[in-house]
Amino acid sequence: METKVVKICPERVADFDRELSEAAEIIRGGGLVAFPTETVYGLGANALDSTAASRIYNAKGRPSDNPLIIHISDPDGFERWCEVENKEALDKIKADFTPGPITIIQKKKSIIPDTVTAGMDTVAVRCPSNPIARRLIELSGVPIAAPSANTSGRPSPTKASHVIEDMMGKVDMIIDGGECEVGLESTIIMLKEDGVTLLRPGGITKEALEERLGEVKVDKAVLQRLEEGEKPLAPGMKYRHYAPVATVIALKGEDSRVVEFMKKALDDEGTGVICYREDLIENGRAQILGSREDKREMAHRLFDCLRAFDSMPNIKTVYTRLPDTDDIGLALVNRLIKACAYTVKEL
Ligand code: AMP
Ligand code: MG
Repeated sequence: METKVVKICPERVADFDRELSEAAEIIRGGGLVAFPTETVYGLGANALDSTAASRIYNAKGRPSDNPLIIHISDPDGFERWCEVENKEALDKIKADFTPGPITIIQKKKSIIPDTVTAGMDTVAVRCPSNPIARRLIELSGVPIAAPSANTSGRPSPTKASHVIEDMMGKVDMIIDGGECEVGLESTIIMLKEDGVTLLRPGGITKEALEERLGEVKVDKAVLQRLEEGEKPLAPGMKYRHYAPVATVIALKGEDSRVVEFMKKALDDEGTGVICYREDLIENGRAQILGSREDKREMAHRLFDCLRAFDSMPNIKTVYTRLPDTDDIGLALVNRLIKACAYTVKEL
């Protein structure tokens, strides 16, 4: 399949209606368009068209039991496509956090095809803030089902070049809209009559949600490996994820020890590290996650750091810093411990 790559400037979306209309036409015709959002790049198809949605699973090599998030431009969609159980909480979330990097899971209405929800009776809905994503959904006139636009298992794409690496020849169009602002996938919550459960941490933090909604439960799969037979509330959380080809190992311990360990480990040419800027490790195989004081910068850079090791063919092992779990740290740690398949080395 020929893939058209189109560059669109997110600050001047109004100047690109011709390109976005062409993309919307592809969506309405059952095709696939990769597009930027404020979290990561999405791989979009018409969420009301079962055949179109099944193309997403094929292009990504995504397991068929892992449901898709549907993207809407009008917040009314949280009610239009779902049965609302907890209107009070929904209204608060809509008022404070949307449009933005939060996905809400509620009972689905029957118009949403089973292919999109992987047979579940619930549907995940998100209203993104990225202006390119919003205009594309508006022009398409349908909700857009869109998982991250990476090959399943690889780190999610936060730049168009990442999407091109994984999806060239597999989709009809890739929209290059620059770097994604947050850089981690959306926060996912399940909203029921009896309260809110966090299924996947992201740019909207647990602390921010609790300030507005009261207690938020956290699904065990966010930070812990599940036992054989245990099921996470979000099916996707059980898969090895976000990982480069190399084996990733997280390091825990006193700062000076971690830095010393990393410097020594780099003597081996098959080793890479992911460190903080303040660690002052200068080596072509050291990826700087960001300043230790700035977890938003780390979130923005994480997937680019992980992907970088895949273009260094001899790297067998990557040691990484593990920040604390405050604020967006919970999302960072969640992605990192999954990338390292829960291998944490205490120093
Ligand atoms: P991605 O599209 O790559 O950001 O992944 C979407 C995540 O949302 C996966 O972990 C899915 O399992 C999860 N998800 C989507 N729909 C549902 C749903 N109805 N119930 C629970 N989790 C869902
Ligand atoms: Mg994904």
